[in-house]
Amino acid sequence: MNFQQVLEEIVAETASLEKEGNVANYIPELAKVSPDHFGISLHLLNGKHYRTGDSEMRFSIQSIAKVFSLSMAIGLLGESIFQRVDVEPSGTAFNSLLQLDYEEGIPRNPFINAGALVVVDILLSELKDPQKELLQYVRKLAGNQEINFNDYVAASEKVEGYRNIAMANLLKSHGNLHNKVEDVLDFYFRLCSIEMSCSELSKTFLVYAHHGRIPHTREKILTKSQAKRLNALMQTCGFYDEAGEFSYKVGLPGKSGVGGGIVAVLPEKFSLSVWSPALNKKGNSVRGMKALELFTTKTGLSVF
Ligand code: GLN
Repeated sequence: MNFQQVLEEIVAETASLEKEGNVANYIPELAKVSPDHFGISLHLLNGKHYRTGDSEMRFSIQSIAKVFSLSMAIGLLGESIFQRVDVEPSGTAFNSLLQLDYEEGIPRNPFINAGALVVVDILLSELKDPQKELLQYVRKLAGNQEINFNDYVAASEKVEGYRNIAMANLLKSHGNLHNKVEDVLDFYFRLCSIEMSCSELSKTFLVYAHHGRIPHTREKILTKSQAKRLNALMQTCGFYDEAGEFSYKVGLPGKSGVGGGIVAVLPEKFSLSVWSPALNKKGNSVRGMKALELFTTKTGLSVF
């Protein structure tokens, strides 16, 4: 299959979507990003790499980073973390407060913000130097020591973080945060501020297509069963109230972020990432969703 040609076709066929959607404006630093970037990158497990467009430009990966915090927590503590966060799709927005109170502070899944806050709280309790150790973990998966937080984005999100602040307080009132609300929020905002390019992202996510083994070091960070379950969570919960739509149209486990990035994996085959900052109403990249749909349609490569 000529993957480079497939990627070029996708760029051309999605170009008309460039003006649809809006960049995330509730985080002032993200509101400054130009909507007309588009990058796509495909890493195959056989070592091949294909990319085009703004594939080397770093952007704010936002909620995609929740996969790293979850994977780190599962690697450290295994299944026990699911006593504090469930594994069900929420059917609600990523920042919804509605279910959390009547479900007594147990978030539906680790990818909605409430669930990610609990995971971050778990890491704060387990790690000596959480920010440093998280960054080391992500750099190891990426095979790249230059991956970093963006302090401006983290600070900007904190200033306007009213919903996340409310959510963390609600979790605390239900006894499901063990550390100080302020510390949990700080760590969460730092996590979301990680920056990567499409090429860095698709390379990093190969570990989830490879049963939890980092391809470039051969180190195993998750068991086969843990990697399977992490992918299952991406499939069912990775796109919040659009998880069904993404499964239906793309047919791959994946994760989106409000920076406009999306990454998806096909176990034993590839990792594919795309970046286009303009989002639909559910907070997922308009052109990115379409690009991934075209990829699986054109190549016939999906889990279904
Ligand atoms: N940092 C963002 C927030 O908490 C992450 C949301 C997302 O990317 N879906 O609102």
